[in-house]
Amino acid sequence: MRAVKYIVVHHTATRADTSPATIRMYHLKRGFSDVGYHYLITADGRVHAGRDESRIGAHVKGYNAESIGVALIGNFEKYPPSPQQWDSLLTLLAQLTARYNARVVWHSQLGRTACPGRYLRDKLERAFGDKPNAEYR
Ligand SMILES: [Zn+2]
Repeated sequence: MRAVKYIVVHHTATRADTSPATIRMYHLKRGFSDVGYHYLITADGRVHAGRDESRIGAHVKGYNAESIGVALIGNFEKYPPSPQQWDSLLTLLAQLTARYNARVVWHSQLGRTACPGRYLRDKLERAFGDKPNAEYR
């Protein structure tokens, strides 16, 4: 099993009804070998498999080799994730952190980005606490 230290939460910064297949297509057009995330969660709360967990993703500069990427579809700068989406995220994060003995972080903790959007970031900070970037290096 690949050594994974971080489970990194993202948003796709797309419309909430964008399909996982469309996200994959965007990433293929950018020259990725497959969708960059390992999981995508749609607004209905369904968890969709992206890139296989055994493969290094393409979602967070400098940390891909040691992380798993989970993206919620939507733009959480503009509105919060749906309740079903948030519940599914918490369940998936519990499974992944246990499997890898990894810690939950979100994209903006590892790089200069608005991802995963302020509404989702607020919820993550309340659920997991916030720490300055330096603690994750
Ligand atoms: Zn991101």
